[in-house]
Formats: sequence, C-alpha cells, structure tokens
Amino acid sequence: MLRQIPTASLALAEVPRPAAPSPDDVVIRVEACGICGTDLHIMQGLSYRPELPFVLGHEPVGTVVEAGSRASEWLGKRVTITLFTGDGTCPECLAGNERLCPNVVSDTGVFNAWGGYADYLAVHAAQLLEVPDSLTSPQAASLVDAGATAANSVRVAMEREPRRVLILGAGPIGLMSAELLTAHGVEAQLTQRSARRRATAQRWGYQVFEQIAQAPGPFDAVIDATGSPAVFNDGVKALGPRGRYILAGYAQVPNADFAEVSHKEVSIWGIRSGSRDDLRGIVDLAASGQIRLPEIDTWPLEQINDAIEALRSRRVDGKAVIVPGPAE
Ligand SMILES: [Zn+2]
Repeated sequence: MLRQIPTASLALAEVPRPAAPSPDDVVIRVEACGICGTDLHIMQGLSYRPELPFVLGHEPVGTVVEAGSRASEWLGKRVTITLFTGDGTCPECLAGNERLCPNVVSDTGVFNAWGGYADYLAVHAAQLLEVPDSLTSPQAASLVDAGATAANSVRVAMEREPRRVLILGAGPIGLMSAELLTAHGVEAQLTQRSARRRATAQRWGYQVFEQIAQAPGPFDAVIDATGSPAVFNDGVKALGPRGRYILAGYAQVPNADFAEVSHKEVSIWGIRSGSRDDLRGIVDLAASGQIRLPEIDTWPLEQINDAIEALRSRRVDGKAVIVPGPAE
C-alpha cells in the first residue's frame, strides 16, 4: 500500500477483500503482477499522484473468482486487463483507445482504481482479456503494460516504413520492441548503458552499443525506452531526414535541441501504454512463440520492497514480477 508520496517503500497492510462485484465487474485472484518503471516514478513523486492510501500494480494476471450478473462468462478464466477506463462514449473510447479519453476515469493500479499488488483485485469486465494457456502468469504479466507499450511503439515506427530502427534501452520494453521489429523483418539495433542488460541483448543476437553516438546511423526511427532525459538530443542526432522519435518512456528534457528536430523535420511521437489491440497482438505473438520474452525475476508479495530496491539499483536484467501467495 502506498501511504505517502514521495516514499522509498510500500507498506504491508491487511485490507478488506473487494466486495461482491456490481453486475459488470469481476474480482480476480492475482497470480502475478509486473513492476513498471512508472511505479518507481509514482513513489518518487515524479508521476501520477493517486488519492492515498492506494494499492499500486498495473500489470496484473489472475483468475476470475467472482463475477457480476452480466459478467458471469468470465468466471474461472485466467485473464489480464487493459488498464484504462474512459467515459465509454467519446470517439477515442469507441475506437478502443480508452487511454486517450479526455474524460479518462481510471488507470488500474495507477489512479482511481486499486491495482494488483494484492491478493485480490476488482476490475470492470470490459477491461478483461483472456490469457492463452501457453503463457505462464508471470510471462503474461510482463506483457500487460511493457508489451502493450512496445507494440504501440513498433506500430508507430512501422507507419514510417523503416528499414532500420534504433532502440534506446534494452530493458523489457526495448527488448520486446526489438523482437516485434524483427518479426516485421526490420533491422533493430539497441543502445544500453548498463553492461548487464547489454549482455542480455547480445545473447539474444542483437547489436548493442553503450553510447548512442556509436550506433551507425542514420536510422528511420528511434524508440526511446529509457525514461531518461539524457538521451533525447543524441537520439534525435541518430535519425535521418523525416525520422520518427518515438517516446515510449517519458521524462522532462530541459535542454532539448529543437534545431536538430527542425533541420531534419523529425516528428516526435508520444506513446501512452497501448490499445486493447496492441495488447492482444503481443499476447498472441508471445503465446505462439513468434517473439521471445524477457527473463523474469519473481518476488513474493511480502518482499515487494526488495524487488523495488533491486530495480532502483539496476540489479534486474529482465522483468520484475510480484507473485502473491496461494489462496487461503
Ligand atoms: Zn472517452
């Protein structure tokens, strides 16, 4: 439970199990929940400010154990979720882009709806997506936000009909973006400061550079999956004319060089997680073995602060996933 912002750790607390769901809602028994860089940013006070106290966790996977009268077909199914709930009536909502709804209602585990760092989680049935049997729950958890973000980033990159794409950051989003581009037949190269994550991407067969300037540009698109302000100017330099700079992780960039952006007519594209179709697409590709998934390190729910500390000190090569204990 998040009790204050900023904070270095989450509190362990007993809270009531979610009440019997209303007709269109379900209760999920959580089997796995990924940790995202956004969680760390929220705790630092650099991102969303949910009403406190709040339960974080926006990459949940689990089994539906209770369902409202209009959602009973979900009972017993293993599911994950799309994160955003919109007003349900605007053009963005009707197109499956609830995350862009101007009247967005909630982002599960981020604001206005408690998340998956818990044994049980209540969500709207409209958010549910069934998980194929060939994926474990921790594997599916690695896809909920990180995978949807990679899928959205690569979809935007593909609109540019790129021959070569440079990915900044070889964490879960970067690696999955590289896998998706490879599946599209597009050459992907990566940059990564940490030697451990560089070694992982090299093991997967990718060319990885420590510095952006070392990558042999120009590239048609750059996917920035670092969340760091330090890479923007060098990332734009690596682009060719009319290149696309795709912001999969966001940060404030105090010294952004827009002269370089103008000289090459670069377009900058923001990415906010992904659509339902982005999530479904990457879940299906992973389930059928067409893309590889990052290594997964799991921690029990009670040790979530150890997991957060491991992420903060960059000791996690792949994806960090929380696994609550068995049902009581
Ligand atoms: Zn809407």
